[in-house]
Amino acid sequence: MTLELLHKPSMAKLTSLGIGGYARVQAKVRDEAGLDELSRFVEREGSGLLAIGEGSNMLAGDGELNLALVQVARHRKAQAEISGTTVLVPADMRLPGLLSVLIKNGLGGMEGLAGIPGSVGGSIAMNAGSYGTDMQASVKRVRLWTPSKGLFWKDAADLEWGYRHFSLGNDEFFLVWEVEFELSGSTEKEVRAKIKETFEKKKTTQPVTARTAGCVFKNPEGCSAGKLLDDAGFKGRNLGGMGFSEMHANFLENKGDGTAEQALELMSQATEAVAEKFGITLKPEVIILS
Ligand SMILES: Cc1cc2nc3c(=O)[nH]c(=O)nc-3n(C[C@H](O)[C@H](O)[C@H](O)COP(=O)(O)OP(=O)(O)OC[C@H]3O[C@@H](n4cnc5c(N)ncnc54)[C@H](O)[C@@H]3O)c2cc1C
Repeated sequence: MTLELLHKPSMAKLTSLGIGGYARVQAKVRDEAGLDELSRFVEREGSGLLAIGEGSNMLAGDGELNLALVQVARHRKAQAEISGTTVLVPADMRLPGLLSVLIKNGLGGMEGLAGIPGSVGGSIAMNAGSYGTDMQASVKRVRLWTPSKGLFWKDAADLEWGYRHFSLGNDEFFLVWEVEFELSGSTEKEVRAKIKETFEKKKTTQPVTARTAGCVFKNPEGCSAGKLLDDAGFKGRNLGGMGFSEMHANFLENKGDGTAEQALELMSQATEAVAEKFGITLKPEVIILS
């Protein structure tokens, strides 16, 4: 079967935050033939389509969610194909796995992304980034799938990119299928050292091993959401089993038995307090599924 269907998948199991109820259905696309079946799935399911990767940037609501999840989950072990400084990567390869390949091959440019736990596909869709770089900086072209066009390549320059923003310029459902990166020639030693440095820095400032979805809010233009939350008194603020991290106020942690209701209530209190105190409206970075 090239399109595997699972009914009522648990969002808590599919997301790094580990909270949330059940989606309607989850389709795992195993190979290109599975994309033909996916067209029929899309027609059949109609509403609530949502691509999902590693679920490391998602906050899923409690209870039954009207979602039809689509996940790239190719049969063959996700591997990168390297030709000089060009690297072709399937969307379901994990970003940390890609960085390991880049270390071994002495390819530089993405070292600042160390510590981001998602899939390559999800990281493109979020234009994930840190320490002054993002996915866009190294992408040459992206192979996408849409119900109306099937598979097609788009040059990076013909796509819309921004701060944690990526778009095809329309509202149609899309999947990132594979990505071609253009990197810079370096050495194994140098790439390894830079990645280690980035990761060490993250480990001392962010709760990298806790159950989180990364940063909850986007940084407003010219300031840090973490600092605003800290100054508004939200660092370490808890509600039930959820809480803003003691280490970095812009990370919401599931302490074990957290719920989406608690997470959303904390976010709403924080947004209100920051708006009142600083006149700044925080916008969620995490994708809220309700
Ligand atoms: C500890 C921790 C640290 C983090 N640090 C960072 C950081 O420094 N910088 C940063 O930017 N983010 C960070 N994140 C957030 C997250 O890891 C990134 O946003 C990551 O790129 C999301 O990838 P994912 O596969 O988990 O995507 P998901 O969470 O599964 O999905 C995110 C979005 O991408 C879409 N999507 C997923 N896969 C596909 C696909 N194949 N095709 C089309 N759309 C798709 C989804 O519909 C959704 O809109 C962190 C998260 C954690 C838990």
